[in-house]
Amino acid sequence: MSMEFLVPITGSFARPAAENPTVAMVNAAYRDLGLDWTYINCEVAPDSLPQAVEGARAMGWAGFNCSIPHKVEVIKYLDRLGESASLIGAVNTVVIKDGVLTGENTDGKGFVEGVRQVTSVEGKRVLIFGAGGAAKAVSVELALAGVSNIQVVNRSEKRGQELVDLINAETEASAEFVVWDRRVDVPENTDIVINATSVGLYPDVDEQLNMNPDTLLSHMVVADGIHNPPRTHLLKAATSRNCRTVDGLTMLVNQGILGIKCWTGKDASEAVMRETLNKVLHHCD
Ligand code: NDP
Repeated sequence: MSMEFLVPITGSFARPAAENPTVAMVNAAYRDLGLDWTYINCEVAPDSLPQAVEGARAMGWAGFNCSIPHKVEVIKYLDRLGESASLIGAVNTVVIKDGVLTGENTDGKGFVEGVRQVTSVEGKRVLIFGAGGAAKAVSVELALAGVSNIQVVNRSEKRGQELVDLINAETEASAEFVVWDRRVDVPENTDIVINATSVGLYPDVDEQLNMNPDTLLSHMVVADGIHNPPRTHLLKAATSRNCRTVDGLTMLVNQGILGIKCWTGKDASEAVMRETLNKVLHHCD
């Protein structure tokens, strides 16, 4: 019996959804892999999340991404959680298999994968700016991947301290909180510097981190979670001081590759996905 009129469905539930380029990236990857799969970008209001999830299950979707504002709320409608998703307390990728919904978090995993493309992470000392959802995902994954120490630099003390407590309680890594109430110097013994705040994101591209760029030294790897525009002030400052860098596009692509692997079992092309993102995003540097 031919199955050619029934294709596997994946997608995204978010609000707002219109600015999210993942749909273009994932569909390009499916086509490149020769898969007849599809990915649908859905605008889902917070009140409608349970129906959307049940709908995906009822219609036999293979899985979906969750973005703002559903990453935490979606957990109560899932059957199982991966280790890091459970620690982070947020899910951005759901896999549906035989009607069972499993939540994973690829935000931090994609980030760590990007960092790993330029340096090993085991035993390294990390300084991360931010303590929001992205910072939490990245810090937990780095700690699980074996970094030795994480300095969390954040304006709000509550969020920063909570993240530090989580790392110290649940992982082998040690962590300290640094309140961000002045221009920060990056300590000389730092190996990896990360921006996980929203500073630098389009359209506020001229906003800069309150840090001394002259404390970025050439032995440091500098990574930025901002994907639009990918050449942020931080990465430009790092490059001019001969640091190796990892941009937010790399993170986004790696996160997409991990999601596609979870759903289809296939390894998608990084080049095809990056090229697609470059085409659809309006970079302004
Ligand atoms: P949240 O709202 O959860 O957290 C925002 C963080 O940024 C907080 O730590 C906040 O500090 C800090 N912040 C915001 N404005 C400033 C400022 N002017 N100065 C200093 N700190 C500031 O957002 P997310 O963590 O979900 O997302 C953050 C960024 O990460 C997004 O902009 C997104 O682009 C990026 N991201 C990238 C991904 C990728 O794959 N490339 C994946 C997910 C996110 P405070 O607590 O003090 O308010």
